Amino acid sequence: MCHSKLLLYLYPVSTINHNDYTCLTKNKAMKPLWGIDMGGTKLEGVILESKENPKVLTRLRVPTEKEKGYDHIIHQIGLLVDQMKASSGLVPEIIGMGHPGALDPQTQTMKNSNTTAVNGRHFKRDLEAALGIPMELANDANCFAMAEAGMGAVRTHVPGARMVFGVIMGTGVGGGIVFDGKVWNGHQGIGGEWGHSFLDDSGGKCYCGKTGCVETLLSGPACERYYEKITGQKCSLPEISRRYDAGEPAAIETLDRLMHFFGKGIANVINILDPNVIVLGGGVGNIDLLYSKGVEKAREFVFNLRLDTVFLKPQLGDSAGVFGAAFLVA
Ligand SMILES: [Zn+2]
Repeated sequence: MCHSKLLLYLYPVSTINHNDYTCLTKNKAMKPLWGIDMGGTKLEGVILESKENPKVLTRLRVPTEKEKGYDHIIHQIGLLVDQMKASSGLVPEIIGMGHPGALDPQTQTMKNSNTTAVNGRHFKRDLEAALGIPMELANDANCFAMAEAGMGAVRTHVPGARMVFGVIMGTGVGGGIVFDGKVWNGHQGIGGEWGHSFLDDSGGKCYCGKTGCVETLLSGPACERYYEKITGQKCSLPEISRRYDAGEPAAIETLDRLMHFFGKGIANVINILDPNVIVLGGGVGNIDLLYSKGVEKAREFVFNLRLDTVFLKPQLGDSAGVFGAAFLVA
């Protein structure tokens, strides 16, 4: 098969010096971690030196080309793995992969993925058959939590944390649970999905078919909708945040409401999981007010006189997906 055309799309983000890796592979204790992050437009792969020292050895990207269908997506993942092998001189024993949506533990098929070609398919089984390598799959919120726990904010600030809840508040609201270094996917694959827990009827209809989900109150679009409702003006969340700082009453009302419902929603999670640390990711997670007023509100609603939960900003940015995927196999 001719790879020359496909190679045009491949570009290394960073690779290791081959002398380095010869020396690394001689160290029997070192277990490199292989991870792939499946996005709608690109597949990104990374090899980390080890769990203890998660230095990037190789990092590569290929386009997903999801419009070409299911078999082509699997082909592209195979292509990425081949390139990672060639670039590093290493061979994976197992690969972790992050993806949107969920792998249903009962049917072993994918569901709720925005890369719709994989929905209803035995994605893990088909990948393992095509690559000849065992795969460990988890959704992107779980990978986010895993990365921040293993090599990001949690490792930096609260290294002994046993239970980490990683929150993604952006276009949607999701969450991932890491306990003792392992993702808890749940019996039905919905572990950590607080975004579709009931919070308040005023949120209105959710795309999931229910009403008043956390997502209908805490997502970016939900805040923008509320601001538009009270002002008649379309305005992005970062701009609402700037207007809040400038003292605009409608922006204050919008963000105060966000803090109120964030406190209520996250207090429900704390009452059940009581995590050591909560990491707030996603576009809404960038709002600094969450760490002051938002946490104050959580303190009001939680079933305790104190609130000892540590709230952290994520450290890894867009890299959390692929690093978390690698940590799935740590
Ligand atoms: Zn919902």
